[in-house]
Amino acid sequence: MPELPEVETIVQQLNQQIQGWRIIDVWSDSFRKQNHLTWPQFQSLVKGKKIKQAARRGKNILLNLEGDLILWIHLKLTGHLLVGHYLFRNQKWLSLEQGYYQDKENTFIHWVFTLEKQKQQKQLVLADRRRFAKVVLLTQSEFLKEKTFQKLGPDPLAKDFTASRLKEILKKTKGPIKQVLMNQEYLSGIGNIYANEILFEAKLNPFKKASELKEEEIDKLFSAIKKVLGEALKFKGTSAEDEAYRMLDGSPGSFSSRLKVYQREGEKCVRCQSIIKRAKDHNRSTFYCPHCQQV
Ligand SMILES: [Zn+2]
Repeated sequence: MPELPEVETIVQQLNQQIQGWRIIDVWSDSFRKQNHLTWPQFQSLVKGKKIKQAARRGKNILLNLEGDLILWIHLKLTGHLLVGHYLFRNQKWLSLEQGYYQDKENTFIHWVFTLEKQKQQKQLVLADRRRFAKVVLLTQSEFLKEKTFQKLGPDPLAKDFTASRLKEILKKTKGPIKQVLMNQEYLSGIGNIYANEILFEAKLNPFKKASELKEEEIDKLFSAIKKVLGEALKFKGTSAEDEAYRMLDGSPGSFSSRLKVYQREGEKCVRCQSIIKRAKDHNRSTFYCPHCQQV
């Protein structure tokens, strides 16, 4: 699932590529009834609206549209956005471009927004092999009432997210540090890939209770959060084993080769040469170095 660095990469690219473009048509085979909106109502609200800006809240993408409307997109497991030129033929959307657009992962198309600017057209497309992605239209007041956003913890890359803020947060928690890092109500944007990488960077055992971390351990954790997320963003995110995360041109992120523990079970630790271990918890895998990350 895309996490903070992946979603931030997408949002930055959306602002470069579709800001100021007008939605002139929308197609979907995956519309789910939402906030009392039917499909024809959804279509008529969205059509003709200009995309003012793309923004990120945690792992959520928000497209601010004219008319105080917000198109809320959560990519979930395999969803990803593409921008390019597409054609609807024989009940299927086909990319007119070569290269990454033709990758199998980019062909499971379930949403298409046709955009126009100065008589030019292109498409914003949601491809999603497993079809869990969410596309919801909200008014400004519905957005303010939406629990998902009310409950969201601070953004770890925000300037006002400091080590002392992290200390305050951790004090109130009950679970192991890895679970805490991934809980969107404590911190927003971190998932399984970066929780593993951050804890390796900080030399902390993933199963240690977050509320029991010492002052200097929290300082290390804080630096690791900023460092790992910042570097992953610089390399435009991670396309993990399933290769589901893609940028707007369909290409994968390049941080994957820089992962130090995630999906590296059985390989040697880059710091101490011990063998990286994998443990299962809550249907997720935890990867760690048993030597560098002792309790
Ligand atoms: Zn090690």
